[in-house]
Amino acid sequence: MVNIFARKPIYLDYAALTPVDPEVLSLMKKLYDSSYGNPNSLHSFGTNAQRVLDQAKKEVAECIGAHPDEIYFTSSATEANRIALSVGKALISPIEHSSVMESAIDPEFLEINKDGIVTIDKIKEEIKIVSVQWVNNEIGTIQPVYDIAKKVKEAGKLFHVDASQAPITQVIDLKKVKADLLVLDGNKIYGPRGVGVLFVRRGNEIKIPRSATPNIPAIAGFALALKKINVEKNNIHFNKLNSLFDFKHINGSPRSPHILNISFPGKDAEFLLFQLDAAGVAVSTKSSCMRDEDESYVLKAIGADSKSSLRFSFGTMTTEGEVKKAVKILKNLIK
Ligand code: PMP
Repeated sequence: MVNIFARKPIYLDYAALTPVDPEVLSLMKKLYDSSYGNPNSLHSFGTNAQRVLDQAKKEVAECIGAHPDEIYFTSSATEANRIALSVGKALISPIEHSSVMESAIDPEFLEINKDGIVTIDKIKEEIKIVSVQWVNNEIGTIQPVYDIAKKVKEAGKLFHVDASQAPITQVIDLKKVKADLLVLDGNKIYGPRGVGVLFVRRGNEIKIPRSATPNIPAIAGFALALKKINVEKNNIHFNKLNSLFDFKHINGSPRSPHILNISFPGKDAEFLLFQLDAAGVAVSTKSSCMRDEDESYVLKAIGADSKSSLRFSFGTMTTEGEVKKAVKILKNLIK
């Protein structure tokens, strides 16, 4: 008899959340112990905390081709997206993350092709900001942000990029991609939860709430996690894992190789997810941020069958053995 149970549970939901890198965790622990001043305080505890904050800004800026004074830490990518989109009427892609969908003011929608890639023609006068994610969280589509930025800037509009899922497999260089605003997320880069980054290019006047007490350990952890990313190594690793996953995926192209979406015609995706979970493999049916919604609007937008598709997302610590085991379990369940 085939044993369809994974002895140690296999986590294939890294697009929903990445575990914290042990080195990042250890830095955070150290700072929780030693750096408990509020950077807004004038005493030495405060100035020490301010120093850690300034260093983190510098490190994040260096990683993405920005200046330290363009980096703002927020309590989540959701909050950063909300602040960015508060500037006025938005033109967005129909496959943005729900935090963008919910924050966009009076949104209009860009066209996408069957791969999920946006096309931009004329931008109406009344549009204030254009928002296109770098990498989609459900189908991994990589948007041509460099070209989109050029078009948006030619039209004289603000360009916002939700890059929450991007840093693991894409080089983010804001000297090349002329975005005005860009968002990063700690819990997608093996950093802590509850910390995001909003990049605001110099010269843009965006109202940013500044009254919150900065979470210094999490901020320093975020900077270390970002610094530790090795894009080239990750892409090689994920491509190798993809080659072991011999199911036809429905993702378009180009896509980030850490996200695979597979359709199982005739199967109920949610039922299959629970069967996989019982067998020790954790995947998801759609974005974890759409828990209460029936179907994935992202899959619908690219014309895919959202009721029979599952997302498998790999992490830097996913092993070939885990993927082989997951494939075996999956094949057993669908035969
Ligand atoms: N944008 C994208 C593309 C995401 O994948 C996520 C997280 N799923 C977010 C924004 C929001 O991140 P958070 O839940 O950390 O605020």
